[in-house]
Amino acid sequence: MVSDRVRVQRYPDRASYDAAAVASILRAGVVCHVGFVDRGQPFVIPTAYGFDGRVIYIHGIPASRLVRVLRDGRQVCVTVTLVDGLVLARSLFNHAMNYRSVVVVGAARRLVEHADKLRGLRAVSDQTMPGRWDDARLPTPKELRQTHVLVISTTEASAKIRTGPPLDDEEDYALVHWAGVVPLGLTAGLPIPDPRMPTGRPAPPYLDRVRDLIAGPRVTGASPDSSR
Ligand SMILES: Cc1cc2nc3c(=O)[nH]c(=O)nc-3n(C[C@H](O)[C@H](O)[C@H](O)COP(=O)(O)OP(=O)(O)OC[C@H]3O[C@@H](n4cnc5c(N)ncnc54)[C@H](O)[C@@H]3O)c2cc1C
Repeated sequence: MVSDRVRVQRYPDRASYDAAAVASILRAGVVCHVGFVDRGQPFVIPTAYGFDGRVIYIHGIPASRLVRVLRDGRQVCVTVTLVDGLVLARSLFNHAMNYRSVVVVGAARRLVEHADKLRGLRAVSDQTMPGRWDDARLPTPKELRQTHVLVISTTEASAKIRTGPPLDDEEDYALVHWAGVVPLGLTAGLPIPDPRMPTGRPAPPYLDRVRDLIAGPRVTGASPDSSR
């Protein structure tokens, strides 16, 4: 049963409430946007996150509004967006983007036990830098106290995915304008060693994997419909 809070209205055929579809997008993302209301004022804050297949973790210093306001039970809306392509139609009206996106609504909860916080921090680290957790100094108890970790369930979530070429009005296919898809994706460049590191130290192999992990699909397949 899909809750009304996450039911997609426009192009519902490209929506999915399937946990696997939601998870595949949350696993591929790097940044989420967290929406919440503080004393009547809505805020949307970009932040790193972790996803362990079940819940989203975010972290920050206690002084930031994001962390300060999101006490136990505070309602939030978290979004993750992967832009896969610019869809150029013959008409400006039918221009669109190919994308994979997720909207999660639910209550945030602050983790207090050290073991729980470490699990959340590891999820955040693994999200973008798999392998790094085992190749860096772990947080000290003092650092752990200075870091708040929040968890948000993903049980109430929707995914929306657009793929494929533009869909113009039938009479516009006779127009001369170029039409098609410009693939977009996030790519990692070559690692730049810290100048304070001894020279000649090779980059760890997991940095190569980061490049593959954050790259989205380059070319989207045909789709019978479109959206904007
Ligand atoms: C890619 C990315 C990853 C990040 N990862 C983390 C993370 O893991 N943990 C974390 O705590 N923070 C992260 N941040 C920073 C985060 O967006 C906030 O800046 C942070 O939560 C602290 O905000 P603050 O205390 O300065 O301000 P707040 O008290 O949160 O906000 C005060 C005001 O500052 C402005 N502001 C705050 N943040 C931004 C921003 N990012 N861009 C523009 N204006 C802003 C807004 O106007 C806001 O109303 C990340 C930001 C980006 C872009």
